[in-house]
Amino acid sequence: MLLPQLRLSLDAGFPLRAFVPMEHVVVSHGHTDHLAGLLPWAAQRQLQNLGPARVYSPPALAPDLQRLLDLGAAMEQGKPYPVKVEPVSPGEQVILRPDMVLRFFPTTHWTPTLGVGLFWRKRQLKPELAGLGGEEIRQLRESGLEVVETVEVPLLAYLADSGPEVLYREHWLAQVEVLVVECTFLRPQDRERAKRFGHMHLDDLRQFLPHSHNRHWVLMHLSRRHRLGPATKTIRQVLAREGGPHLHLLNVEWP
Ligand SMILES: [Zn+2]
Ligand SMILES: [Zn+2]
Repeated sequence: MLLPQLRLSLDAGFPLRAFVPMEHVVVSHGHTDHLAGLLPWAAQRQLQNLGPARVYSPPALAPDLQRLLDLGAAMEQGKPYPVKVEPVSPGEQVILRPDMVLRFFPTTHWTPTLGVGLFWRKRQLKPELAGLGGEEIRQLRESGLEVVETVEVPLLAYLADSGPEVLYREHWLAQVEVLVVECTFLRPQDRERAKRFGHMHLDDLRQFLPHSHNRHWVLMHLSRRHRLGPATKTIRQVLAREGGPHLHLLNVEWP
């Protein structure tokens, strides 16, 4: 998933032209469907002379990712790619720019996996001064009083691969504006499989829906067991609610 305004990619499952300019890439975990685009990305950045870039990953995965990138560069018999792999742990943060911060949290997948929150650090007038006019505020500021404060607004959460437990552990996920979440399995008989491998089932999202104050839900990662057309219909039937989050389905058919 690309956020071009921040030159940020959340996972790198496929080689994409639009992925090449990204300078920050989070690789949530070591499964191929989340990192297969990494080598083409690094190689293209090298070819196009696009300058240094960073990959953030769970500590256990970082050495392997570095080896993968080194191997790619070696096979091309060129210089090492200008990409630095940085291990990040749950609770750590990366400051993308002064007003935008990434913060990492664990998900409930069957291998160490990072979820990512994007927070906007907004400067705003202190609430107790809200009723005052411009002139009064100016006088207070000149008298040395701090009239603004910094608040953090959770803009987006990317859950990567995860079962539903994280939705109730990280309470802010019910408030984040955009929740990007997998919806891998739909059928009742796949309930057990979803639980065993730490994946979200449609039923998990249906249960979370009444708790959600999110403006958007972006759903992805549909299992290849499903056909896209009927699956899209089922997901909308179960999750579309008047006044609920807007649904955006990013699933694509296996080419
Ligand atoms: Zn996975
Ligand atoms: Zn996956």
